[in-house]
Amino acid sequence: MILEPELKKFQEEIRSWVEAEIAPQAKELDEIGKFPFDNVKKLAQRGLLGVVVPQEYGGLGKTSRHFAIVIEELARVCGSTCLTVAAHNSLAIGPILKFGNETQKKKYLPDLASGRKIGAFGLTESEAGSDAGGTKTFASLNGNYYSINGSKCFTTNGSVADTYVITARTKKEKDSKSISSFIVERDSKGFSVGKTEKKMGLKGSDTATIIFEEVKVPKENLLGQEGEGFKQFLATLDSGRIGIGAMAVGLAQAALEESLKFAKTREQFDQPIANFQAIQWKLADMATQIEAARLMVHRSAYLKDQGKDFIKQASMAKLFASEVGRMVTYQAIQILGGYGFMSEYPVERFYRDVKLTEIGEGTSEIQRLVIFRQLLKEKNLI
Ligand SMILES: Cc1cc2nc3c(=O)[nH]c(=O)nc-3n(C[C@H](O)[C@H](O)[C@H](O)COP(=O)(O)OP(=O)(O)OC[C@H]3O[C@@H](n4cnc5c(N)ncnc54)[C@H](O)[C@@H]3O)c2cc1C
Repeated sequence: MILEPELKKFQEEIRSWVEAEIAPQAKELDEIGKFPFDNVKKLAQRGLLGVVVPQEYGGLGKTSRHFAIVIEELARVCGSTCLTVAAHNSLAIGPILKFGNETQKKKYLPDLASGRKIGAFGLTESEAGSDAGGTKTFASLNGNYYSINGSKCFTTNGSVADTYVITARTKKEKDSKSISSFIVERDSKGFSVGKTEKKMGLKGSDTATIIFEEVKVPKENLLGQEGEGFKQFLATLDSGRIGIGAMAVGLAQAALEESLKFAKTREQFDQPIANFQAIQWKLADMATQIEAARLMVHRSAYLKDQGKDFIKQASMAKLFASEVGRMVTYQAIQILGGYGFMSEYPVERFYRDVKLTEIGEGTSEIQRLVIFRQLLKEKNLI
Protein backbone atom coordinates (compact mmCIF):
# COMPACT_ATOMS: atom_id res chain seq x y z
CA MET A 1 0.00 0.00 0.00
CA ILE A 2 1.28 3.47 -0.81
CA LEU A 3 1.21 5.67 2.27
CA GLU A 4 1.52 9.45 2.17
CA PRO A 5 5.12 10.52 2.97
CA GLU A 6 4.42 11.56 6.57
CA LEU A 7 2.58 8.31 7.34
CA LYS A 8 5.27 6.27 5.57
CA LYS A 9 7.98 7.90 7.68
CA PHE A 10 5.92 7.26 10.83
CA GLN A 11 5.40 3.62 9.83
CA GLU A 12 9.11 3.08 9.19
CA GLU A 13 10.04 4.63 12.52
CA ILE A 14 7.49 2.53 14.39
CA ARG A 15 8.60 -0.61 12.56
CA SER A 16 12.26 -0.24 13.42
CA TRP A 17 11.39 0.72 17.01
CA VAL A 18 9.09 -2.28 17.63
CA GLU A 19 11.57 -4.65 15.97
CA ALA A 20 14.27 -3.48 18.36
CA GLU A 21 12.23 -3.01 21.54
CA ILE A 22 9.17 -5.28 21.44
CA ALA A 23 9.92 -8.22 19.12
CA PRO A 24 12.65 -9.83 21.25
CA GLN A 25 10.21 -10.58 24.10
CA ALA A 26 7.34 -11.97 21.99
CA LYS A 27 8.21 -15.67 22.10
CA GLU A 28 8.85 -15.70 25.83
CA LEU A 29 5.68 -13.76 26.64
CA ASP A 30 3.70 -16.39 24.75
CA GLU A 31 5.50 -19.29 26.38
CA ILE A 32 5.20 -18.15 29.96
CA GLY A 33 1.98 -16.16 29.64
CA LYS A 34 3.49 -13.14 31.32
CA PHE A 35 1.96 -9.66 31.09
CA PRO A 36 4.37 -7.37 29.19
CA PHE A 37 4.97 -4.76 31.92
CA ASP A 38 8.40 -3.88 30.50
CA ASN A 39 6.97 -3.41 27.02
CA VAL A 40 4.21 -1.22 28.43
CA LYS A 41 6.83 0.99 30.08
CA LYS A 42 8.72 1.35 26.80
CA LEU A 43 5.51 2.01 24.86
CA ALA A 44 4.61 4.69 27.38
CA GLN A 45 7.97 6.41 26.90
CA ARG A 46 7.49 6.25 23.13
CA GLY A 47 4.03 7.91 23.51
CA LEU A 48 2.19 4.91 22.10
CA LEU A 49 -0.27 4.63 24.98
CA GLY A 50 -2.07 7.77 23.88
CA VAL A 51 -1.73 7.78 20.10
CA VAL A 52 -4.89 9.73 19.23
CA VAL A 53 -5.14 11.64 22.52
CA PRO A 54 -4.69 15.38 21.85
CA GLN A 55 -1.39 16.83 23.01
CA GLU A 56 -3.17 19.08 25.53
CA TYR A 57 -4.03 15.89 27.47
CA GLY A 58 -0.54 14.45 27.10
CA GLY A 59 -1.05 12.30 24.01
CA LEU A 60 0.63 12.16 20.62
CA GLY A 61 -2.33 13.88 18.96
CA LYS A 62 -2.17 11.61 15.92
CA THR A 63 -4.89 10.35 13.58
CA SER A 64 -6.71 7.01 13.44
CA ARG A 65 -4.49 6.04 10.50
CA HIS A 66 -1.40 6.54 12.65
CA PHE A 67 -3.11 4.40 15.27
CA ALA A 68 -3.82 1.67 12.68
CA ILE A 69 -0.13 1.73 11.74
CA VAL A 70 0.98 1.41 15.37
CA ILE A 71 -1.36 -1.53 15.95
CA GLU A 72 -0.39 -3.30 12.71
CA GLU A 73 3.31 -2.92 13.44
CA LEU A 74 2.91 -4.14 17.02
CA ALA A 75 0.86 -7.17 15.89
CA ARG A 76 3.53 -7.98 13.31
CA VAL A 77 6.00 -8.54 16.16
CA CYS A 78 3.93 -9.36 19.27
CA GLY A 79 0.18 -10.04 19.36
CA SER A 80 0.00 -9.97 23.15
CA THR A 81 1.56 -6.53 23.45
CA CYS A 82 -0.59 -5.38 20.55
CA LEU A 83 -3.89 -6.35 22.20
CA THR A 84 -2.80 -4.71 25.46
CA VAL A 85 -2.19 -1.44 23.60
CA ALA A 86 -5.29 -1.72 21.40
CA ALA A 87 -7.60 -2.19 24.41
CA HIS A 88 -5.92 0.59 26.39
CA ASN A 89 -6.13 3.10 23.51
CA SER A 90 -9.44 2.19 21.88
CA LEU A 91 -11.56 0.80 24.67
CA ALA A 92 -10.45 2.68 27.78
CA ILE A 93 -9.20 6.00 26.41
CA GLY A 94 -11.63 6.02 23.46
CA PRO A 95 -14.89 6.50 25.42
CA ILE A 96 -13.34 9.05 27.83
CA LEU A 97 -12.08 11.05 24.86
CA LYS A 98 -15.38 10.86 23.00
CA PHE A 99 -17.92 11.12 25.81
CA GLY A 100 -16.05 12.51 28.80
CA ASN A 101 -16.55 16.08 29.98
CA GLU A 102 -13.60 18.45 30.36
CA THR A 103 -13.09 17.59 34.05
CA GLN A 104 -13.02 13.85 33.32
CA LYS A 105 -10.64 14.32 30.39
CA LYS A 106 -8.26 16.41 32.46
CA LYS A 107 -8.42 13.98 35.35
CA TYR A 108 -7.96 10.69 33.48
CA LEU A 109 -6.39 11.20 30.05
CA PRO A 110 -2.93 12.48 31.04
CA ASP A 111 -2.31 9.45 33.29
CA LEU A 112 -3.58 7.01 30.66
CA ALA A 113 -1.82 8.63 27.70
CA SER A 114 1.48 8.74 29.58
CA GLY A 115 1.13 5.13 30.71
CA ARG A 116 1.24 6.09 34.40
CA LYS A 117 -2.04 4.20 34.48
CA ILE A 118 -3.32 1.29 32.40
CA GLY A 119 -6.89 1.28 31.12
CA ALA A 120 -9.48 -1.45 30.58
CA PHE A 121 -13.03 -1.69 29.29
CA GLY A 122 -15.64 -3.85 31.02
CA LEU A 123 -18.61 -4.58 28.80
CA THR A 124 -18.88 -8.36 28.50
CA GLU A 125 -20.54 -10.38 31.26
CA SER A 126 -20.93 -14.12 31.65
CA GLU A 127 -24.49 -13.88 30.34
CA ALA A 128 -24.07 -10.79 28.15
CA GLY A 129 -21.56 -11.28 25.33
CA SER A 130 -22.76 -10.50 21.81
CA ASP A 131 -25.92 -9.26 23.48
CA ALA A 132 -23.99 -6.74 25.55
CA GLY A 133 -27.21 -4.80 26.14
CA GLY A 134 -28.22 -7.69 28.42
CA THR A 135 -25.81 -6.46 31.07
CA LYS A 136 -26.83 -7.29 34.65
CA THR A 137 -24.29 -5.17 36.50
CA PHE A 138 -26.38 -2.54 38.27
CA ALA A 139 -25.58 0.99 39.40
CA SER A 140 -28.00 2.67 41.79
CA LEU A 141 -27.75 6.33 42.67
CA ASN A 142 -27.57 7.13 46.39
CA GLY A 143 -26.99 10.85 46.89
CA ASN A 144 -23.67 11.77 45.31
CA TYR A 145 -22.58 8.20 44.64
CA TYR A 146 -23.56 5.30 42.45
CA SER A 147 -23.37 1.94 44.14
CA ILE A 148 -22.26 -0.67 41.59
CA ASN A 149 -22.82 -4.42 41.92
CA GLY A 150 -22.00 -7.11 39.37
CA SER A 151 -19.07 -8.42 37.37
CA LYS A 152 -17.47 -8.29 33.94
CA CYS A 153 -15.62 -11.17 32.32
CA PHE A 154 -12.91 -11.47 29.64
CA THR A 155 -11.69 -7.94 30.40
CA THR A 156 -8.43 -7.21 28.58
CA ASN A 157 -5.95 -5.66 31.06
CA GLY A 158 -8.55 -6.56 33.71
CA SER A 159 -6.16 -7.59 36.45
CA VAL A 160 -3.47 -4.99 35.75
CA ALA A 161 -5.47 -1.84 34.99
CA ASP A 162 -5.91 1.22 37.19
CA THR A 163 -8.78 2.88 35.33
CA TYR A 164 -11.84 1.03 34.03
CA VAL A 165 -14.63 2.19 31.78
CA ILE A 166 -17.59 -0.07 32.45
CA THR A 167 -21.25 -0.35 31.60
CA ALA A 168 -24.00 -0.90 34.13
CA ARG A 169 -27.78 -0.81 34.15
CA THR A 170 -29.18 2.27 35.86
CA LYS A 171 -32.83 1.26 35.39
CA LYS A 172 -34.56 -2.09 35.86
CA GLU A 173 -36.26 -1.98 32.43
CA LYS A 174 -34.45 -4.06 29.82
CA ASP A 175 -34.18 -1.45 27.11
CA SER A 176 -31.24 0.29 25.49
CA LYS A 177 -31.86 3.49 27.48
CA SER A 178 -31.32 1.78 30.81
CA ILE A 179 -27.55 1.35 30.41
CA SER A 180 -24.96 3.92 31.50
CA SER A 181 -21.15 4.08 31.44
CA PHE A 182 -18.88 4.85 34.36
CA ILE A 183 -15.21 5.42 35.02
CA VAL A 184 -14.18 3.23 37.94
CA GLU A 185 -10.87 3.47 39.74
CA ARG A 186 -9.12 0.31 40.81
CA ASP A 187 -8.65 1.36 44.41
CA SER A 188 -12.42 1.84 44.92
CA LYS A 189 -13.64 -0.11 47.93
CA GLY A 190 -15.52 -3.25 46.87
CA PHE A 191 -13.66 -3.59 43.58
CA SER A 192 -11.74 -6.83 43.09
CA VAL A 193 -10.21 -8.97 40.39
CA GLY A 194 -11.54 -12.49 39.93
CA LYS A 195 -10.38 -15.22 37.59
CA THR A 196 -7.51 -14.55 35.19
CA GLU A 197 -8.07 -16.59 32.02
CA LYS A 198 -5.71 -19.10 30.44
CA LYS A 199 -6.03 -18.72 26.66
CA MET A 200 -5.17 -20.46 23.37
CA GLY A 201 -3.30 -17.38 22.16
CA LEU A 202 -2.31 -13.84 23.12
CA LYS A 203 -1.06 -15.44 26.28
CA GLY A 204 0.90 -12.40 27.42
CA SER A 205 -2.24 -10.28 27.25
CA ASP A 206 -4.15 -10.12 30.51
CA THR A 207 -7.79 -11.28 30.42
CA ALA A 208 -9.66 -11.22 33.72
CA THR A 209 -12.97 -11.02 35.52
CA ILE A 210 -13.53 -7.84 37.48
CA ILE A 211 -15.99 -7.78 40.35
CA PHE A 212 -18.02 -4.94 41.87
CA GLU A 213 -19.48 -5.35 45.34
CA GLU A 214 -21.17 -2.17 46.52
CA VAL A 215 -18.48 -0.18 44.72
CA LYS A 216 -19.10 3.50 45.41
CA VAL A 217 -18.44 5.61 42.33
CA PRO A 218 -18.87 9.40 42.53
CA LYS A 219 -21.68 10.82 40.42
CA GLU A 220 -19.03 12.82 38.50
CA ASN A 221 -17.72 9.54 37.04
CA LEU A 222 -20.82 8.95 34.95
CA LEU A 223 -19.84 9.30 31.27
CA GLY A 224 -22.29 11.58 29.50
CA GLN A 225 -25.84 11.23 30.76
CA GLU A 226 -27.65 8.33 32.39
CA GLY A 227 -29.07 6.02 29.72
CA GLU A 228 -26.44 6.83 27.09
CA GLY A 229 -24.26 3.80 27.81
CA PHE A 230 -25.70 1.59 25.06
CA LYS A 231 -25.03 4.13 22.32
CA GLN A 232 -21.63 4.86 23.83
CA PHE A 233 -20.43 1.26 23.84
CA LEU A 234 -21.63 0.74 20.26
CA ALA A 235 -19.59 3.78 19.21
CA THR A 236 -16.58 2.58 21.22
CA LEU A 237 -16.72 -0.78 19.45
CA ASP A 238 -17.08 0.90 16.02
CA SER A 239 -13.75 2.62 16.58
CA GLY A 240 -12.17 -0.38 18.26
CA ARG A 241 -12.82 -2.46 15.15
CA ILE A 242 -10.32 -0.38 13.20
CA GLY A 243 -7.71 -1.50 15.74
CA ILE A 244 -8.72 -5.16 15.68
CA GLY A 245 -8.68 -5.10 11.85
CA ALA A 246 -5.19 -3.60 11.92
CA MET A 247 -4.11 -6.25 14.43
CA ALA A 248 -5.27 -9.03 12.08
CA VAL A 249 -3.39 -7.40 9.19
CA GLY A 250 -0.19 -7.21 11.27
CA LEU A 251 -0.35 -10.87 12.30
CA ALA A 252 -1.08 -11.89 8.69
CA GLN A 253 1.81 -9.77 7.44
CA ALA A 254 4.16 -11.47 9.89
CA ALA A 255 2.95 -14.89 8.70
CA LEU A 256 3.49 -13.92 5.06
CA GLU A 257 7.03 -12.72 5.73
CA GLU A 258 7.94 -15.89 7.63
CA SER A 259 6.44 -18.05 4.86
CA LEU A 260 8.32 -16.24 2.13
CA LYS A 261 11.61 -16.47 4.02
CA PHE A 262 11.09 -20.17 4.66
CA ALA A 263 9.98 -20.97 1.10
CA LYS A 264 13.12 -19.39 -0.34
CA THR A 265 15.47 -21.43 1.84
CA ARG A 266 13.71 -24.74 2.46
CA GLU A 267 14.79 -27.26 -0.18
CA GLN A 268 12.90 -30.35 -1.21
CA PHE A 269 13.36 -32.30 -4.44
CA ASP A 270 16.71 -30.48 -4.81
CA GLN A 271 15.24 -27.03 -5.01
CA PRO A 272 13.70 -24.32 -2.84
CA ILE A 273 10.01 -25.01 -2.25
CA ALA A 274 9.41 -21.44 -3.53
CA ASN A 275 9.99 -22.93 -7.01
CA PHE A 276 6.77 -24.90 -6.75
CA GLN A 277 3.74 -23.21 -8.20
CA ALA A 278 1.55 -24.56 -5.39
CA ILE A 279 3.63 -22.55 -2.90
CA GLN A 280 3.90 -19.49 -5.16
CA TRP A 281 0.13 -19.29 -5.53
CA LYS A 282 -0.43 -19.56 -1.80
CA LEU A 283 2.01 -16.70 -1.22
CA ALA A 284 0.44 -14.59 -3.97
CA ASP A 285 -3.04 -15.11 -2.52
CA MET A 286 -1.84 -14.30 0.99
CA ALA A 287 -0.20 -11.06 -0.14
CA THR A 288 -3.28 -10.04 -2.15
CA GLN A 289 -5.67 -10.67 0.73
CA ILE A 290 -3.45 -8.75 3.16
CA GLU A 291 -3.24 -5.79 0.79
CA ALA A 292 -7.03 -5.66 0.46
CA ALA A 293 -7.54 -5.97 4.23
CA ARG A 294 -5.00 -3.21 4.93
CA LEU A 295 -6.70 -0.89 2.46
CA MET A 296 -10.06 -1.53 4.14
CA VAL A 297 -8.62 -0.79 7.58
CA HIS A 298 -7.06 2.46 6.36
CA ARG A 299 -10.23 3.46 4.55
CA SER A 300 -12.31 3.12 7.69
CA ALA A 301 -9.66 5.02 9.72
CA TYR A 302 -9.61 7.75 7.06
CA LEU A 303 -13.40 8.10 7.15
CA LYS A 304 -13.27 8.35 10.94
CA ASP A 305 -10.59 11.04 10.77
CA GLN A 306 -12.72 12.97 8.29
CA GLY A 307 -15.66 12.90 10.71
CA LYS A 308 -17.65 10.76 8.23
CA ASP A 309 -19.80 7.75 8.98
CA PHE A 310 -17.46 4.76 9.22
CA ILE A 311 -19.60 2.13 10.99
CA LYS A 312 -20.07 -0.12 7.96
CA GLN A 313 -16.49 0.26 6.73
CA ALA A 314 -14.98 -0.47 10.16
CA SER A 315 -17.17 -3.54 10.53
CA MET A 316 -16.32 -4.74 7.02
CA ALA A 317 -12.62 -4.09 7.60
CA LYS A 318 -12.63 -6.02 10.89
CA LEU A 319 -14.66 -8.89 9.41
CA PHE A 320 -12.51 -9.18 6.29
CA ALA A 321 -9.15 -8.63 7.95
CA SER A 322 -9.83 -11.15 10.71
CA GLU A 323 -10.87 -13.82 8.21
CA VAL A 324 -7.82 -12.99 6.07
CA GLY A 325 -5.72 -13.25 9.24
CA ARG A 326 -7.03 -16.73 9.95
CA MET A 327 -6.59 -17.93 6.36
CA VAL A 328 -3.12 -16.45 5.91
CA THR A 329 -1.74 -17.78 9.21
CA TYR A 330 -3.25 -21.20 8.39
CA GLN A 331 -1.54 -21.25 4.99
CA ALA A 332 1.70 -20.13 6.61
CA ILE A 333 1.70 -23.27 8.76
CA GLN A 334 1.06 -25.32 5.61
CA ILE A 335 3.96 -23.69 3.78
CA LEU A 336 6.31 -24.43 6.68
CA GLY A 337 5.02 -28.03 6.82
CA GLY A 338 6.02 -29.82 10.02
CA TYR A 339 8.12 -26.86 11.05
CA GLY A 340 5.02 -24.69 10.97
CA PHE A 341 3.48 -26.94 13.62
CA MET A 342 6.47 -26.54 15.91
CA SER A 343 6.69 -23.67 18.35
CA GLU A 344 10.32 -23.12 17.38
CA TYR A 345 8.84 -21.20 14.43
CA PRO A 346 6.46 -18.32 15.15
CA VAL A 347 3.69 -19.08 12.66
CA GLU A 348 1.72 -21.36 15.00
CA ARG A 349 1.71 -18.45 17.50
CA PHE A 350 0.36 -16.11 14.81
CA TYR A 351 -2.37 -18.66 14.02
CA ARG A 352 -3.39 -18.94 17.68
CA ASP A 353 -3.16 -15.19 18.27
CA VAL A 354 -5.16 -14.10 15.23
CA LYS A 355 -8.23 -16.16 16.19
CA LEU A 356 -9.20 -13.53 18.75
CA THR A 357 -9.75 -11.02 15.96
CA GLU A 358 -12.76 -13.04 14.76
CA ILE A 359 -14.26 -12.92 18.27
CA GLY A 360 -13.32 -9.77 20.19
CA GLU A 361 -15.17 -6.45 19.74
CA GLY A 362 -18.01 -8.32 18.06
CA THR A 363 -17.77 -11.77 16.49
CA SER A 364 -17.79 -12.20 12.71
CA GLU A 365 -21.48 -13.12 12.94
CA ILE A 366 -22.19 -9.83 14.72
CA GLN A 367 -20.12 -7.90 12.13
CA ARG A 368 -22.32 -9.37 9.40
CA LEU A 369 -25.35 -8.23 11.38
CA VAL A 370 -23.92 -4.70 11.73
CA ILE A 371 -23.07 -4.53 8.01
CA PHE A 372 -26.51 -5.78 6.98
CA ARG A 373 -28.24 -3.24 9.24
CA GLN A 374 -26.14 -0.46 7.71
CA LEU A 375 -27.03 -1.69 4.21
CA LEU A 376 -30.72 -1.42 5.07
CA LYS A 377 -30.23 2.23 6.01
CA GLU A 378 -28.40 3.18 2.83
CA LYS A 379 -29.94 4.47 -0.35
CA ASN A 380 -26.74 4.35 -2.35
CA LEU A 381 -24.93 1.09 -1.77
CA ILE A 382 -21.51 2.19 -3.07
C1 LIG B 1 -9.03 -12.53 24.49
C2 LIG B 1 -10.33 -11.80 24.67
C3 LIG B 1 -10.30 -10.49 25.11
C4 LIG B 1 -11.50 -9.80 25.33
N1 LIG B 1 -11.46 -8.51 25.83
C5 LIG B 1 -12.61 -7.89 26.19
C6 LIG B 1 -12.59 -6.61 26.82
O1 LIG B 1 -11.54 -6.00 27.01
N2 LIG B 1 -13.76 -6.09 27.24
C7 LIG B 1 -14.95 -6.71 27.05
O2 LIG B 1 -15.97 -6.18 27.45
N3 LIG B 1 -15.01 -7.92 26.41
C8 LIG B 1 -13.87 -8.52 26.00
N4 LIG B 1 -13.91 -9.76 25.38
C9 LIG B 1 -15.20 -10.39 25.17
C10 LIG B 1 -15.61 -10.45 23.71
O3 LIG B 1 -15.98 -9.18 23.27
C11 LIG B 1 -16.76 -11.48 23.62
O4 LIG B 1 -16.18 -12.74 23.83
C12 LIG B 1 -17.49 -11.43 22.30
O5 LIG B 1 -18.22 -10.24 22.16
C13 LIG B 1 -18.46 -12.61 22.13
O6 LIG B 1 -19.25 -12.79 23.26
P1 LIG B 1 -19.35 -14.26 23.93
O7 LIG B 1 -17.96 -14.74 24.11
O8 LIG B 1 -20.22 -14.17 25.12
O9 LIG B 1 -20.03 -15.15 22.83
P2 LIG B 1 -21.61 -15.30 22.53
O10 LIG B 1 -22.22 -13.96 22.39
O11 LIG B 1 -22.20 -16.23 23.52
O12 LIG B 1 -21.57 -15.97 21.11
C14 LIG B 1 -21.42 -17.39 20.91
C15 LIG B 1 -21.64 -17.65 19.41
O13 LIG B 1 -22.99 -17.26 19.04
C16 LIG B 1 -22.94 -16.33 17.98
N5 LIG B 1 -24.04 -15.37 18.09
C17 LIG B 1 -24.43 -14.67 19.21
N6 LIG B 1 -25.45 -13.87 18.91
C18 LIG B 1 -25.70 -14.02 17.59
C19 LIG B 1 -26.63 -13.45 16.68
N7 LIG B 1 -27.51 -12.53 17.05
N8 LIG B 1 -26.60 -13.87 15.38
C20 LIG B 1 -25.71 -14.80 14.98
N9 LIG B 1 -24.80 -15.36 15.79
C21 LIG B 1 -24.80 -14.99 17.08
C22 LIG B 1 -21.58 -15.64 18.12
O14 LIG B 1 -21.18 -15.02 16.92
C23 LIG B 1 -20.71 -16.82 18.53
O15 LIG B 1 -20.35 -17.55 17.38
C24 LIG B 1 -12.73 -10.44 25.09
C25 LIG B 1 -12.75 -11.75 24.60
C26 LIG B 1 -11.57 -12.43 24.40
C27 LIG B 1 -11.63 -13.84 23.87
